[in-house]
Formats: sequence, C-alpha cells, structure tokens
Amino acid sequence: MLHRFFGGVHPIEHKDLTEQKAAVPLPEAPAQVVIPLSVNGGEPGLPLVAEGDSVKVGQQIAQPQGLGAPIHASVSGKVSAVESRSYGGGGKMLSVVIDNDFQDTPCPDGKRRSSATGITGGEIRKLIEDAGIVGMGGAGFPTSAKLESGLGKVDTLIVNGCECEPYITSDYRLMLERGEAVIEGARLLAKALGAQKTVIAVETNKPDAIELLRAQAGGEEDLRVQPLRTRYPQGAEKQLIQTLTGRQVPSGKLPVETGCLVFNVATAAAVWEAVMEGKALTRRYVTVTGGALVRPMNVIAPVGTPVSWLIKLAGGFQMPPDRVLLGGAMMGTPLYDLDAPVMKTTNCVLCLTGDEVGRQDPAQACIRCGKCAEVCPMKLAPLFIRMNAEKRRWEAARALHAMDCIECGCCGYICPARLPLVQSFRMAKAAIREEKSRSGAGTGEEQKKGEGEG
Ligand code: SF4
Ligand code: SF4
Repeated sequence: MLHRFFGGVHPIEHKDLTEQKAAVPLPEAPAQVVIPLSVNGGEPGLPLVAEGDSVKVGQQIAQPQGLGAPIHASVSGKVSAVESRSYGGGGKMLSVVIDNDFQDTPCPDGKRRSSATGITGGEIRKLIEDAGIVGMGGAGFPTSAKLESGLGKVDTLIVNGCECEPYITSDYRLMLERGEAVIEGARLLAKALGAQKTVIAVETNKPDAIELLRAQAGGEEDLRVQPLRTRYPQGAEKQLIQTLTGRQVPSGKLPVETGCLVFNVATAAAVWEAVMEGKALTRRYVTVTGGALVRPMNVIAPVGTPVSWLIKLAGGFQMPPDRVLLGGAMMGTPLYDLDAPVMKTTNCVLCLTGDEVGRQDPAQACIRCGKCAEVCPMKLAPLFIRMNAEKRRWEAARALHAMDCIECGCCGYICPARLPLVQSFRMAKAAIREEKSRSGAGTGEEQKKGEGEG
C-alpha cells in the first residue's frame, strides 16, 4: 500500500526539451579536464599524481582523506597541474588538471566478470569503494560507507528513479538506455546491504521507463518497480521512504533508522559497471538544457569536463541566460564560473532565460497567507523560520526545526511575496551548524549525508 507525503507542488516540468533525446558520448572531447579532489565539499583527497605524469582512463589519481571516495582519471593524457581550481560547489578545490591525449587509453587494473554468481556482499562493497562511487543524485556521500552504515539494520532498499525536478531527464534516459545496469546494479546493492526487498520507484510521467524496467526485472517478488504519482519533491529521500513504506524519518535522525536506504538509479548503474566491468566512476549522464541554449541535449560526460564545453556542444546560447544552475530549477545551485567542471554529482546544467525564471520584481513583505506552510513536505513553518533567520535568532530557528528543512524550494515557489525563503534557511542552517560545532553538540546535520539521492 502506498502512502502520501504532506505538501508538495506541481511545477511545470519542461522535460520536453530533452526527454526524447538519447544521451550521447561527447561528440568532441574536451582538450583538458579539471577533476576536483572532493565531491561533497569535504576535505580534498591526497593526490597520487604530479605534474608531468601520464595517466590512463580509470587510473586512481587521489586517495580519500576523511569521509571521501577515491578519485580516478576520466581521460588519458598528461597531468598539467595539481592546483586549486573553481568547482561546482562554489569557491575553489584542489584539483588534478589533465591534458587530454584523445586516446582514451584504459587503465588495465579493472577486471571484467561474466557473472555475479557467488560474489559476496563484502566483495561488492569493496569494489564499490575502489571504484570511487558516491551518491549520484546530489549528495556525493560515498556509497560504500552508506552501505556499511545500513548493515544489519535495513530491510528495504529503495532505488530512486523519480527524477521529480523540472527540466532534468538524465536519469530518465539512463533508465531507458541502461535498464539492465539499473536492475542488476540494484540487485548488487541489495546483496551488498543484505536487504530483503528492493523497490525501484519511478514517477508515472515516465511510463516507458516503468514498462522497460519491469520487463527487465522479470517479475521477481523481492524486486519490484513501483510507479508513483508525479509530485515534487517525490524523489526526496524522506518523502520517498514515507510514500513507499509509511515510515517517517524522525527529526534529527538518519533514514537508516527507518530500515530503509535510498540510492539513485545512476548510482545503481555505476555499481553494475564497477562490479561487472571493473570500471571506476569517471563519467555520467548529464542533461544540458534550458531555453537559453540552441540545442538542449543529454550527454555522457567525463568527470572534469568544463561546463562551458557542454554549453558549446549544445550550440551555445541563443540569448544571454538569466542564470545558469547546476541541478534543476527547484534545488539547483547557481554556477558563477562556467569553466567549473562536471562532477560525479552533476546531473544537469540548466541555462534559464529571464522568461523561464519568471517574475523578477523585488520581494514584498510577507502577507502571512500561510501557503508556504501548506506546501512544506517537512511540515515546517517557513514564514516563522525566516522571520527568526532574518533577525539572526538562530536558537529560535533551530527550535522551529530549521535543520529539518530539505531545501526543496516548495515554499519559495509558492510564496506570492517572492521571498527568498530557501536562501534564509541555508543561512540559518549554516549558522546553527557553526554554533553547534563550536559547542561540540550534534545538529541533526548528519542527515545530509544520505540526502540528495532524488
Ligand atoms: S507564502 Fe510567503 S507571503 Fe505567504 S506566509 Fe509564507 S512567507 Fe509569507
Ligand atoms: S525549502 Fe524547507 S521550509 Fe521550504 S518547503 Fe522545502 S523543506 Fe519546507
């Protein structure tokens, strides 16, 4: 039986720009890639290469420090620098810069296997770790660590193919084009986790993907493909768990407490490639879209490809974009340096025109209509959290559960006063985090680790 999550909105989907366009390898490879040594903004990895070294595709170039994943070369060529460069998370990050030799010479370390029969859960987790796989739905949390955290606690594995954000079609194309990798990757994840049940969740606006995955799954009882009503943010981790199982992630707790773990479909496909083909995570499906582009498209891009290169391949701008986002229209983050690279978590480059952004008149005063609270899927009171955030009353914002905000943007989307609510909440969360880390207490922030698989 399915359940409903509270709130949510129905933004215009805009997926028609790219949903019928098969994902293609880059028609022209970039001359240089810039590979950041951290995916999730954490401590950068320790470089294993230096300027002048030759590298092959899939060769490990950095060792994680802290909570990170190994990083691998996405093209073959010569390392031209190991230095701080712009990256998609904003600011700069230690990166390995590789001049592409256009040979795509593979690293011989990866081993193919013809069957996964007999492989143990521990072996799968080790292959996932060595391949540098992270949550590809947004958070960039190392997949092997997430699996370890769920051992003995999880009965249900959820594979997220909802892709509820407007404009993005990279997961949709992946499900259509790599259905076998998604299903078999889900089976490998279930084995690595020891989960009894696997549910692959797909919104009903993708009927062909549902049909194809069901055919691929073959009607086994322990793995089902579940269509879900199209409603934003259906693909958010907590909302997905609630819809599928009725279980709610308690405030300040991790999703694993509900006996569920959620992985994105792209993560599942990457797991299949790592285990069966011996491939490290070095490329991913990316939707390059928005009304400002001449030719929106889906591509399979090496990690480290400059966003500006993807924009060029999409025909460039037909008009100056009002803004460029990494991610979708609701949760995407502004990109200020177009030469920033594609990362393992980059599912979309969105180039919006002024018309697509909509009304841009200045924000008005709050009229206390309460609409923000009606749509908040976390049942928060956004107007009161904002009032306190504006006055820098962080303790009051925390008491109103600001840390539970999943930054989905529903409140800002519906607000008739056009108040920048999510920005206020991000600021409040950062301040609360800082205060708590000064005092050494927990914040509930650890929840972020598992988020973003939507
Ligand atoms: S939707 Fe906007 S105007 Fe209405 S109560 Fe919320 S913050 Fe105020
Ligand atoms: S951004 Fe936060 S406060 Fe606003 S609707 Fe989403 S969860 Fe609620």
